[in-house]
Parts: sequence; structure tokens; C-alpha cells
Amino acid sequence: NVSIQRGVDMKELYDLQSELGRGKFGTVYRCREKSSGLQLAAKFVATPKREDRRNVEREIEIMRLLQHPRLIQLYDAYDNGKAMCVVLELIEGGELFERVICDDFILTEKSCTVFMRQICEGIEFIHKQNILHLDMKPENILCLTRTGNRIKIIDFGLARKYDPQKKLQVLFGTPEFVAPEIVNFDQISFETDMWSVGVICYVLLSGLSPFMGATDIETMANVTIAKYDFDDEVFNEISEDAKDFIQKLLLKDKEARLNANQCLKHKWLSEKAVNTTLSKVKLKRYVIKKRWIKAVNTIIALRRMGAKLDFDSV
Ligand code: ATP
Repeated sequence: NVSIQRGVDMKELYDLQSELGRGKFGTVYRCREKSSGLQLAAKFVATPKREDRRNVEREIEIMRLLQHPRLIQLYDAYDNGKAMCVVLELIEGGELFERVICDDFILTEKSCTVFMRQICEGIEFIHKQNILHLDMKPENILCLTRTGNRIKIIDFGLARKYDPQKKLQVLFGTPEFVAPEIVNFDQISFETDMWSVGVICYVLLSGLSPFMGATDIETMANVTIAKYDFDDEVFNEISEDAKDFIQKLLLKDKEARLNANQCLKHKWLSEKAVNTTLSKVKLKRYVIKKRWIKAVNTIIALRRMGAKLDFDSV
């Protein structure tokens, strides 16, 4: 069982290598454990405030409970006072959607069910441990390898333990993927993750984002009234079973949504799905647009840091 090591410099035990990715909170590097030669991933999170440290501690505590093949595994953890480092299993295949849009990948409903089934298995386990992920989105689903179809759910940075005695309300997540109860600041529960699973499935099949508006406010307004449709021509190619699966997740009434176990038993996931090739034109456009937004946000963040440094040096 991993405990947080304090006063130990992780760089003495690990060689840090290339950057693997960046999130709102942390930067993730590939690394190698010197003693074993194991290739791993190290996520660094600056912890200037006590609250930042508490957040990472919560993430570690939750990850300890989540030992499952569909979930990222915790390997080690360090705290040097200024930053915390979480050493994780290395996942080499990149983000799910990046893999799906590669030219060598043939997108069919069948291949979508292979991914959706694994996502539901991961979520089923998380929920069985009484934990809510609360940040289910495509970027948090990684492929194990560049060529295989196995995936893992990552990023438990927003995850919470569910306590039925306590009213749990949160104000975070990505508007495109959050459930109406988050936008409305109502009580959240396991069904909150299931909504996001429905949105991921909609985007994977169609390349369209069901609630996306011109602004975050508009997106959230669409989410609160659960306003979406299957009107686009891409849905002519999609089976009724797939649409039924999505419809049973994107329900404003959270009690009515399928849970992860019911999803796995749904006809679309439990029987052989259609194997005709789906168009990836819109999904490619979606992924490219996301890459742009990410690049722009990185530039804005760097500029802000630069401005702060300039200010500091005055
Ligand atoms: P967010 O802004 O989504 O909350 P975060 O700051 O909590 O992000 P993560 O999502 O955990 O950080 O990681 C950022 C990125 O680093 C991921 O999107 C992914 O591309 C990459 N990454 C994270 N963990 C791993 C890993 N174990 N192996 C390989 N790449 C990883």
C-alpha cells in the first residue's frame, strides 16, 4: 500500500524523461525507476497552498482503493513541501480519441462498444468502491498501447468518496461533459458519472458534441434542460440500440439513468454490434479543434506566468 514519502527527493530514485502531458493541475513526465528499470509516469502538482496538498492527498487516498485493470494504478508518492509527485503506471497509447482518428483505425459501432464496455467496467468498479470520478471526458481515457484496443481511465483529481449521509454538491468539471445536477449545483451521485459516459459515447459515435454551445454558458444552458437530438445525418448510420443506450444515459432525471452494471447488460453492449464502417470526418474535426483550444490555453497560461515573472523581477 503506497504511502506518501516526505523529505525524500524522488529524483534520486527516478530518472525523469520526456513530458507526457499537461492538465489544469499537473505536468506528467515519463520516468524510469533506477533500482528496477521500470518505466513509469510521474505527475507533479505544485502545492503552494494547504488546500492544494489536501487535494493531491485525497487523489492518492482514492487511488489506493482503486486497484483494477481498467483504472490507472498508483505506484509511489512524494511530497517535498513545495510540490507533490504521484508516480503512476505508464500508459503508452495516448488519448482514446487520438487513437481512433488514426488512419489505420477502422471505426465501427463494434469498436465503439469495445471501448464503451471497458469504460463501464472501470466505472462499475469505481462506483462499487463508493467513489465518484466526476471528471469523465475523452482526455481521461487513455489507450494502453498504440495498436491495441485496451483502455484505462485516468485522473482521479476531482474524484470524491460518496457518503449518502452527506449532501455532495460540486462546482467543477468540463461543461461539455457535466451532468445537469452539476450545473444546477444539486446533489450529485453515481449517476453523475453515467451522464458523462453518455456524452462520451455520443461524441465517439458521431464526432458531434451533444450539448456544445458557442460559449460555456450556452453549453450549460443546453445541459440543464438536457437538450440534444440525433437529427444530424451521421445518425442515419447509427443503430437504434446505440441511440437507445445514449438516451438511457442522457436523462435529466438522474434516478432514471442506467447504472454501469445495467449499461453492461444493455443490448448494445451485450450483443454483437454492427460492423459497418462509420465516418470519422466529424470526429477528426472535433479532435483537431480540441488540440487548438488546448494549444491556445497553454499559450495564455505561459503568458500569464511570463507576466508574473516580469512582475516579480521588478
Ligand atoms: P485535468 O486538467 O484533466 O484535471 P490533471 O492536471 O489532473 O488534468 P492528468 O489528467 O492526470 O492531469 O494528466 C494530464 C495529461 O498527462 C493527461 O491528459 C495524459 O495525456 C497524460 N498522462 C497522465 N497520466 C498518464 C500516465 N499514467 N501515462 C501516460 N500519460 C499520462
